[in-house]
Formats: sequence, structure tokens, C-alpha cells
Amino acid sequence: MRCAESIARLSKESALTVLGRAVALEAEGRSIINLGVGQPDFKTPDHIVEAAVKALRDGQHGYTPTKGILPLREAVAAHLGARFGVEADPECVLVVPGGKMTISFAVLLFGEPGAEILYPDPGFPPYRSIIDYSGAKAVPIPHREENGFAFKAEEVLARITANTRLIILNSPSNPTGGVTPRGEIEKLVEGLDAHPHVAVLSDEIYGRMCYDRAEHVSLLEFPSIRERLIYLDGWSKTYAMTGWRLGYGLWPKSLIEGAEKLAINFHSCVNTPAQFAGIAALEGPQDESERMVAAFEQRRHLVVERLNALPGITCQMPGGAFYAFPNVKSVALNDKALANSLLGEAGVALLAGSDFGAEGKGFLRISYANSEENIAEAIDRMGRFLQNY
Ligand code: PLP
Repeated sequence: MRCAESIARLSKESALTVLGRAVALEAEGRSIINLGVGQPDFKTPDHIVEAAVKALRDGQHGYTPTKGILPLREAVAAHLGARFGVEADPECVLVVPGGKMTISFAVLLFGEPGAEILYPDPGFPPYRSIIDYSGAKAVPIPHREENGFAFKAEEVLARITANTRLIILNSPSNPTGGVTPRGEIEKLVEGLDAHPHVAVLSDEIYGRMCYDRAEHVSLLEFPSIRERLIYLDGWSKTYAMTGWRLGYGLWPKSLIEGAEKLAINFHSCVNTPAQFAGIAALEGPQDESERMVAAFEQRRHLVVERLNALPGITCQMPGGAFYAFPNVKSVALNDKALANSLLGEAGVALLAGSDFGAEGKGFLRISYANSEENIAEAIDRMGRFLQNY
């Protein structure tokens, strides 16, 4: 058999690989604390679950329109209108099985040999993987520690060429928790006036998880790029619905047909009861989601304070999401070896920064979507490991 060469260009996601290793070690009887996986440790709120159960009982068992049921797309449009004061056309909303799908579709719409796509480094690994798969050239945008893990607009603009088709942005960021300040976003949007051939994918899946004074600035706020902006959000993180596989993109009018064609060929439509759950999430009470975010905020302080007390580790206070990205450059092991040893020897699952791109080298990604008790125990274990090392 001979598989297509393009398959070899796809990479796996270390979060899922480490999860597999952690589960295998637990099955051997080892105690593992998992700070590796990027999903809320909360249950989906009951009223959302009930909406899906009701849909099933009501006989909602068939296909839906590819873009998603109209009431869900209307709920998305109303939500965006209320949040950002923008007009969103439900016809430009494409509901997809998880936010990841919007990334794949945006890249597949633009990516081909000869094209260039800019993406955050360190960044969510599927960006790079799917760009490589498409045959386009992947051009990293450094998000450095000294800039609070945000991009610098001039660095993004300097990387644009005549071949650039798409820029991928992500704030708040996975893996760093960095939040890009308004000033940089404004500068970038202004600079993009000179590059009308370039589209933007703004991954704002952690947009409702911003802490203290960190302000979430949506690219949707900027009318000058609306006609070339793909806005990505979903239910996975905000409503603790990672396993439901439900996300959406708001696409420009000129691109929605291409995106819909990809959806028709890839998945036909999203699981029907999950779509009804999505309406309940957006239109129902938000208090559980808000309580979850408040819990993350509290844990964030715990994680950062404890990490900064460890030998050889410094950690910035992240502005959003539920990740800390400590600098471990002073530890004698490199980040990959350290992450491996912490799992194998200390029973703490976390990820190496270099799994998120070259700029992530020398860092670890810690997801604090875990109980305060587990977080404290995990960092104690890290401390003991570092002391003995
Ligand atoms: N974008 C970012 C930055 C993420 O971290 C994730 C998930 O970890 C996604 C998109 C995809 O989310 P989903 O689980 O809805 O596919």
C-alpha cells in the first residue's frame, strides 16, 4: 500500500499523546496528576445536558443543514451582537464538530504549495500541522516571554509577502495564557490596510477566560477587516463541552460557500442533539460558566506563586485561558526531558514548551484545569524532583 505523502506531514498533538501515557501509567497503579490536558475539569451544566436529552426524546435524530440548525446560528449571531456590538449574519455562521474544524477549513481554503500562512509560535499544534499538510509554507510569528507572550504587530507585518494568504491569531493563547493587548491588535489591523490580499483567522476560543485587567479584544471589533476575517469560537472551553464536539466559525460572505463545501464533504453536519445543547448554552443562565472561570482565576494565582518558589523556575502571570507557561531554562534538563521525567518519576503529566514550536523551547505548559489540591500536590512533587535532581 502507498499512502499519500501529505499524511506524513501531519503531526500528532502532544497533549493527547501524554494523556495516553498518563492513562497507561495509572493503569499500572501509579498515581498521576494530569496537568497536561487542556480541558475544564467541570461537568457541562445540567440545563445544557437536558436540552440534548430533550432533543433526542423529541426525535431529533436526523441530519441537519450543513451549516447547523437555523435557531443555533441565530443564537450565535445574537450572542456575538450582544457581546461585541456587531451585526452577524446567521447565513455566515458555520457550526462545526469542535473549534479545531474551523482551523482546518480556513487553512485548507487558502493553503497550497506557493502560499504562505503565518501562525503563532508557540501556538496550538494543529495550526502548524494542517498548514504543512496543505503544502503551504508555515511562517511562525514569535510570541516572546518578554512581550507577555503576545505578538508584536510590526513583526507580523514584516513577515507578510505577496504570497501570504492567511494570518492565524490566538488570544488568549494556548499554550501560554498570553493575552494580546489592544494596542498591538490596533496596529496590526491598521497595517493590514496595506495588504488587502491577506485574510485573518482569529481563534478566540478562550475569549471569555480573561483575568484581572487583561482585556479580551476581539478582531470582530474592527470593521476594516470584517470582510476577510474568520472568527473562531465554540462551546468546548466556555461551557465545559470538549467531548460534545461543537464549535463555530463566523465567515466572511465571500468565503462561507467554500467553507460549507468542505463541511459537506467532511462531516455533512454536526451531531443534532449537540446543536440543541449549544442553543441552551448560549441562551440559558451563564452562572456556572462564570463560576468555572472564577475558579480558574483563583487557581492561576496558586499555580504561579507555587511555581515561582521552585528552584530554577520562573513563571509570568498569564492573562487568560487556563495555562501557565513557566520558564525552565535554568533547569539542567531541557524542557522535553524534564516533562518526560516529571511524568515517569514524579507522576506529574504536563507538556514540553517545544511541542508548541521553536519559541516554546525552555518552557513547560501546565494546565490548571484541575483541583487546587491536585495542583498543590503536583507542584510539591515537581519541587521534590527538582531538589533531588
Ligand atoms: N483553538 C485553541 C487555541 C485550542 O486550544 C483548542 C483546544 O484545545 C481549540 C481551538 C479546539 O477546540 P475544540 O476542542 O472545540 O476543537
